[in-house]
Amino acid sequence: MKNFILLVSGPSGAGKSTLLKKLFEEFKSDLYFSISSTTRSPREGERHGEHYYFVSHEEFQEDIKNDYFLEWAKVHENFYGTSLRYTQEALNNGKIVVLDIDVQGYKIAKKKLQDKIVSVFITTKDKEELKKRLIKRNTDTIIQLEKRLENASDEMKELCEYDYLIINDKLDQSYEALRAILVAHRLRTKGQDLDQIQNTWNKGE
Ligand code: ADP
Ligand code: 5GP
Repeated sequence: MKNFILLVSGPSGAGKSTLLKKLFEEFKSDLYFSISSTTRSPREGERHGEHYYFVSHEEFQEDIKNDYFLEWAKVHENFYGTSLRYTQEALNNGKIVVLDIDVQGYKIAKKKLQDKIVSVFITTKDKEELKKRLIKRNTDTIIQLEKRLENASDEMKELCEYDYLIINDKLDQSYEALRAILVAHRLRTKGQDLDQIQNTWNKGE
């Protein structure tokens, strides 16, 4: 079974969670969603252990000390981090591990696991559309919203670091694009157990 990390980044509000939700509906048994730890407060409808592990600053610092994270970063005034152990376990179980992390986290993860990562940057067609989506989502205060838009402009500067780019305008088309990336990457020879495939093929003679 070919395992790899499907890593998505992009401005908050661009539609990453929406697209990933659809991917999980279709490929549930092949995927493992890495639930990050965060010091941010839960939004309405978000549950501990499902969307994030909501932890205190003290717990997060303790986890950093104990090398719990594959990567961690401070994003919009809060800390976010990815568990190293769960990521490795899922990879060992042949899963495609899905990470939704920011650009700083991506750079750290890439240094450690470059060969395993296929990266996708997801954004809107322009800043105005991003603002509209954040307003519609209605999860941020005005100050938080301004901060997210400011960060989005910085994140857009890092597009070139990613393997693929999806401008999430029409949701169906964006989903087809994300799906295509996953399906194509799974078919790459690199990372597959070619000896075993050849043995099986020969036995069929
Ligand atoms: P992210 O996970 O990147 O922060 P979300 O998935 O929460 O973003 O999406 C932000 C908002 O934009 C949500 O209200 C979502 O329903 C909406 N949205 C996502 N994709 C589209 C799209 N293609 N067109 C219009 N609205 C969208
Ligand atoms: P939100 O607060 O909107 O859920 O997420 C804010 C940002 O944090 C998004 O860009 C998201 O990709 C990023 N993020 C979520 N989890 C992690 C993580 O574990 N590590 C890093 N570096 N960023 C994360």
